[in-house]
Amino acid sequence: MTRREFLRLLSTGALSTAFLSTQLGELLAQEEGGQAESLVWLTGHHSQTHSLGLVGQSESFAFLGRYFQRLENEGEEPLADQRPPILILEGSFADDALERGNQILRAWVPRAKVVVLLGNEAAFSKEQPGGYLDMMGQALSEVPVPVIRLPGSPAQPRHLLGVLNHLLMYGLPELDEFRRPKMFFGTLICDRCEYRGQFEAGDYVQYFGEKEGCLYLLGCKGKVTYNDCPTAKWNGGINWCVGAGSPCTGCSEPNFPDHLSLGLYGQLSHRKAGVASGWVRHAETLAYGALGTTVVGLGVHQGAKRSVARYRIKVDEEEI
Ligand code: SF4
Repeated sequence: MTRREFLRLLSTGALSTAFLSTQLGELLAQEEGGQAESLVWLTGHHSQTHSLGLVGQSESFAFLGRYFQRLENEGEEPLADQRPPILILEGSFADDALERGNQILRAWVPRAKVVVLLGNEAAFSKEQPGGYLDMMGQALSEVPVPVIRLPGSPAQPRHLLGVLNHLLMYGLPELDEFRRPKMFFGTLICDRCEYRGQFEAGDYVQYFGEKEGCLYLLGCKGKVTYNDCPTAKWNGGINWCVGAGSPCTGCSEPNFPDHLSLGLYGQLSHRKAGVASGWVRHAETLAYGALGTTVVGLGVHQGAKRSVARYRIKVDEEEI
């Protein structure tokens, strides 16, 4: 499969976690008697929610158990001849240099080939009590290793599998300004939402349970959130938050969950959401109406002219 085709299929949600897991297992098994890549998954505090989506799927679990070296806080440090691994970091890690988890993290990070920060705790290091490391600001700031952020609450298993597949087949994926892979975080939620037409028309759901439709007034953050939920969806492509009547909470954005004091259900300003106000829409309607009237008027005028001309010709012919 070419990289272009791989990215196209990923962006439409056509590559399932089952397919990505199987393919990843095959890629990892390429080397005889061993693994093609060294993968280490280091979990800190507040973790597990992001790996559960993968572990819960049997086909994923099979390759996890077979190829991953999973280290808890009491885990091992790298061996001297350890191959540089793809290092997955999940959860929060204590900032106390005497703490075992901190020591293991600091031992592995400089040895890593690529670091993947899985889930919001690791990716953005927000909303965690004091005493934990800011991953980008502290743990990774002085280490010249490529970092990929896979945020989300929880992180999407398909994103991790997609990134691992991409790393093994094509190298580092293209990243955005927050170091998120563009193949998943390149498009605004709102741009692919099934209710975009209602958003543009100003036809919003007024209160929870009123009807299916655009949830902008109920605090939807789809206008400021980059993710592929509308196309790839969740639970094996069955549904997603907005489809189930819950506003997008913007969980893959660095401002999540407070969104600069708006909170999960605070409404984005009209300016931020790019909403045309009622007056603008009214003016547009009037303008379209006027345009329609003009077109109809011109049509009637042209038609009348033609009839008159025909009539005149007839009259003229009769007269001749
Ligand atoms: S505001 Fe939310 S519900 Fe409305 S179109 Fe955008 S993403 Fe969909």
